[in-house]
Amino acid sequence: MIIVNNQMISKEQAQIDIEDRGYQFGDGVYEVVRIYNGVFYELDAHFKRLERSASEIKIKLPFQLKELKTRVEKLVTLNNVHSGHLYLQVTRGAAPRNHPFPVKAEPVLVAYTKEYDHEPSRLPGRAMFTEDIRWLRCDIKSLNLLGNVLAKQESQERGFDEAIFHRGDIVTEGSSTNVFMIKNRIVYTHPANQLILDGITRRKILSLANDLGLQVKEEAFTKDELLSSDEAFISSTTQEVRPIIEVNGHTIGSGKEGDVTAAIHAEFVKSLPVSVN
Ligand code: PMP
Repeated sequence: MIIVNNQMISKEQAQIDIEDRGYQFGDGVYEVVRIYNGVFYELDAHFKRLERSASEIKIKLPFQLKELKTRVEKLVTLNNVHSGHLYLQVTRGAAPRNHPFPVKAEPVLVAYTKEYDHEPSRLPGRAMFTEDIRWLRCDIKSLNLLGNVLAKQESQERGFDEAIFHRGDIVTEGSSTNVFMIKNRIVYTHPANQLILDGITRRKILSLANDLGLQVKEEAFTKDELLSSDEAFISSTTQEVRPIIEVNGHTIGSGKEGDVTAAIHAEFVKSLPVSVN
């Protein structure tokens, strides 16, 4: 089953207007929420970010978050999801194609779940650098993902696990992840401004690192600083905490997952809904 507006229907029954602005302009916002053992992880934080993204592009959500929560929880139960995610998007709606906001369009909500056949890899990964050619509102989780898609595609074609964006010398984030580095046991990541998406996993990690007594700095760092860091990792809802052991062919630190990364990951696992694994 999937959710389309107020209905809970099968995927085959769903109808999307070809003039939906999400389809024609990428005019909408979305969220991906992990489900562990049938339970959402950080659902309220994702909903809050959805509300903010929608408000930044002046879409009025066509539902109360409380009501949406009940419905997505029902969806997970109906679909019997054990380990997977919820994808949820809201577009500005359907109207004859024209750039200005339509006067009459009603926002369209689509939500569905996906059960994983296997857990996403958190094996140490290799990354490449790529110039951040995206717009200057990367804080909005919008459907416009071309810059991210092109970067990820290039990284895959070149045999890497992630593309790390930089604006000039400054590292911003990954194509679908936030980037962290550790130097002298201090955890660094780009500040949550308009140049990055403030990841829900990123925020969780900052708070867990703090609980672990680590010093945390939301400060931008350069490509060279990343290359000469002691440890690096990427984070996202689906990839969790994933060590990065090589960037552009340069080995990071020992070339293996570092102690601080391992400690943060262990703490992250402890924060997941109970009885995972
Ligand atoms: N940055 C970008 C560009 C992303 O697409 C994602 C994944 N949604 C993230 C960061 C990580 O965000 P989160 O931890 O909320 O999944």
